[in-house]
Amino acid sequence: MPRPKRDHGIGDMMPKTVLAFSDPGSQRIEEDFQGIHQNRMNKRDFNHAMASMGLLGSLGLLPEAATAQNSSTRGAATPQSAQLSQAHVVVVGAGFAGCTVAKTLRQLSKNTLRVTLVEPNSNFLMLALSNLVLGESEPFAHFTQALAPLTKAHGIDWIQDRAVGLEPQKKTLKLANASTLTYDKLVLCPGVELVLDAVEGLNEAKQTSRIVQAWGNDLELQVLKRQLLEMPNGGTFAIAIPPSPFKCPPGPYERASQVAHYLLTHKPQSRVLVLDANQDLLSNAAHFKRYWAEHYAHIIEYRPDHLVTGVDAKSLTLSFEVQDDLQVQVANVLPPMRAQAIAREAGMANVNDKWCEVNFLNFESRLQRDVHILGDAIQGAPLMPKSGHMAHAQGLVLAKAIVAELSLQLPDPNAQLSNFCYSFLNDHAALHLESLHRYDPKARTYQLIPGSNKPSPAPSVEQGQAAWRWAAQMWDDLLS
Ligand SMILES: Cc1cc2nc3c(=O)[nH]c(=O)nc-3n(C[C@H](O)[C@H](O)[C@H](O)COP(=O)(O)OP(=O)(O)OC[C@H]3O[C@@H](n4cnc5c(N)ncnc54)[C@H](O)[C@@H]3O)c2cc1C
Repeated sequence: MPRPKRDHGIGDMMPKTVLAFSDPGSQRIEEDFQGIHQNRMNKRDFNHAMASMGLLGSLGLLPEAATAQNSSTRGAATPQSAQLSQAHVVVVGAGFAGCTVAKTLRQLSKNTLRVTLVEPNSNFLMLALSNLVLGESEPFAHFTQALAPLTKAHGIDWIQDRAVGLEPQKKTLKLANASTLTYDKLVLCPGVELVLDAVEGLNEAKQTSRIVQAWGNDLELQVLKRQLLEMPNGGTFAIAIPPSPFKCPPGPYERASQVAHYLLTHKPQSRVLVLDANQDLLSNAAHFKRYWAEHYAHIIEYRPDHLVTGVDAKSLTLSFEVQDDLQVQVANVLPPMRAQAIAREAGMANVNDKWCEVNFLNFESRLQRDVHILGDAIQGAPLMPKSGHMAHAQGLVLAKAIVAELSLQLPDPNAQLSNFCYSFLNDHAALHLESLHRYDPKARTYQLIPGSNKPSPAPSVEQGQAAWRWAAQMWDDLLS
């Protein structure tokens, strides 16, 4: 990936996790904290921890002098407890969330905390901006990078394997190689699973690579690109979008744009059908529609309320819940999504058996102590998208919360999460989505900071350049 200089000011959008207490909701924080530390510390330790963060003062439980004295140490989440250096944190999945949390845990603990990362893939595939591979402006190789430099640089123990079972009562994690890891804290960042069975025939179609998704850390983007290159001029490329929520809401519309950009110059008689199970585009709808009408009017056709229920791999025919069957030349069918098997099979996916509910103060599972879940696998807070930037931001917040907890301190009740997502419409112009979310101790969830989700300006070359700077910074943050 081209690596422009890091001068784009994205740091301003990165989560600020300044440790400070606000009075509203402090009762709830105390309750959450008591819950977090239940069975881990006695009353004296608990009071000490509360006092060290000034919380007893804010609750009116300390004399004034003590509060004044303690206020000078507020925010000092220094990693000094023996618990921190003796603890073992196991992180499952080295995507946006997993890489971030593993690296940040090591950094914040000054390399004292033992961190083990479980990930079967040796390479990280940066999906962000990877749709440009289909538009022919970037090679696939630009989007993959080895994981080993990250783990070596930060002293993270990487086990190249898959987690297959979890016994939270024993605090053990089973790996595919039959070994077992014990943990003090487990961080599950396994991302999403594509529910192929929800679309009849899709499993078989995928096995023969007749219909692929190219929506994960695999080589399918290359298969899809080959299918596009081999498609005759006059052919139809269909992308089927599942019901929300799914990984990367703007991703399918960016992909349709990239395919149209390629077709415009190489096969102008061809079409892109956007078959959306949702009622309208889920992201930047007005901008996408206007751009498509102005630049790809004879190529892209958008059809809302089109839920694909079956595929015939041989004839490349798609069936729908309501509409008539449709035969196409290339089918990119994205099925519904849910949290990966390791989280669901461990019983963590308590929202419709799909998504994992967490306590947003420290991303701990609502069902299991010391199991924290991050990224695409969780049931998000309102208006919180399933994006790489968001998963990264959550990783930063959780790493701080874990280090604080293991240092007998409180997690930050004012943590913020940012999101930034770019979508390219051709090979150089992009638009974006942005938002900031703040933890609300009263509501015990993240709330969108009003006004932070400003609509993107019209697509521009400047936003395209900002997208590459964002990506370069993100690569650095995740993998070096
Ligand atoms: C085409 C496309 C474009 C996108 N563009 C953007 C963008 O521009 N900006 C943006 O912010 N986001 C973008 N995204 C979304 C982004 O890629 C995801 O939201 C992000 O990857 C989620 O991070 P995660 O850490 O939760 O999961 P992932 O990044 O998916 O990582 C999960 C990891 O867990 C591993 N894993 C799974 N199960 C196990 C197991 N049992 N044991 C061990 N390891 C396991 C997997 O191998 C994987 O490496 C895009 C996505 C797509 C598909």
